[in-house]
Amino acid sequence: MPTPSQRIATLTGAGDDGWEIFYRARAMKAAGHDVLELTIGEHDIGTAPAILDEMHRAARAGHTGYAAVPGIAPLRATVAARLTARHGQAYGPENILIVPGGQAGLFAAHHAACDQGDRALLIDPYYATYPGTIRAVGALPQPVAAKSEDGFQPDLAGLRAAAPGARSLLINSPNNPTGAVYSEASLRGIAAIAHDHDLWVIADEVYDTQVWDGHHQPIASLPGMAARTLTVGSLSKSHAMTGSRLGWVCGPVETIAQMINLATHTTYGVPGYIQEAGLFALNLGPEAEAAVAAPFNRRRDMLMGRIAGHASLRAIPPQGAMYVMLDIRATGLSGDDFAARLLDAEQVAVMPGESFGRAAAGHVRVALTLPDDIFVTAITRLIGFAERLAT
Ligand code: PLP
Repeated sequence: MPTPSQRIATLTGAGDDGWEIFYRARAMKAAGHDVLELTIGEHDIGTAPAILDEMHRAARAGHTGYAAVPGIAPLRATVAARLTARHGQAYGPENILIVPGGQAGLFAAHHAACDQGDRALLIDPYYATYPGTIRAVGALPQPVAAKSEDGFQPDLAGLRAAAPGARSLLINSPNNPTGAVYSEASLRGIAAIAHDHDLWVIADEVYDTQVWDGHHQPIASLPGMAARTLTVGSLSKSHAMTGSRLGWVCGPVETIAQMINLATHTTYGVPGYIQEAGLFALNLGPEAEAAVAAPFNRRRDMLMGRIAGHASLRAIPPQGAMYVMLDIRATGLSGDDFAARLLDAEQVAVMPGESFGRAAAGHVRVALTLPDDIFVTAITRLIGFAERLAT
């Protein structure tokens, strides 16, 4: 048998795929154990019936053939208008490429920004696919740590030191896994570094409808940044459409034109009936997005309220997104050991902080993704487990 390419054989690198606990929890569930999963960022509700009805209508109306590769015109126009309002930039449909989910957008954006062997910066802790996505385009991921003591805001001095010779910087606010929403000072600092070192900024804003404290400012809204920013968005989190695989990249017209060429040679677009459903979903307006987001804010408060007064657990209240990062260092365990032992002892699955880079060691990420009553059961077990370890 021929050997696979080095690129694919080394895609996830050593020890950073981080999905072990998740797969073990799924295997335990399949074997009949009552595991409470607080692992991946998947809503406990499905896609709204009205969106599914539109998907069905569009498919029955014949939108089942090849769709326009860059995206159907009304969806590109609607996304352009949405981002024009958010970024304060005059985007048109030609600034938008519709892609099969934010993940495909991250891949396409790095493909557009980086050549083989280029250094691509990212901020640690990071969403678990980031290093592999960068390696997949032949670039070299270089994480720059953000500290828990700084509320996981980016370390501007560290980024400036890493920037010379790098090609791109990937940022994510609101952040998975930390829940940090980048402050204006952080964003202005990043913009200055990108400008001084001629970096592309790839801005992953898939959680921009889930902001609990403060204000999410898109980096492309800062002076001069739209010309060097590729913003990635998606309907996965905002509209509970994770399985529909629908997202976008917004960027300079010439770059988007080249990315359409990439799409022609990779995905060949997104199914038309999915795009029609996405268009319908976006037109439901902000109330529908707020309704999808609300349970995460509520459960965040439940968790923060319940850990208060327990010395074994600390957390920086997440300002956005659907997770809480718990600092479990007082238990004396690593995030990996805590998650593994919690699963065995209490049948509760959380993600070890180490899955998201070195800066999150000694933490676990709790996804706020179970119905309230089951969520309370899960976190009660988690807190009890941590307290027993710490005493
Ligand atoms: N970016 C971040 C930070 C995420 O957490 C996720 C999914 O969890 C994605 C991108 C990918 O989302 P999707 O491909 O479903 O749009």
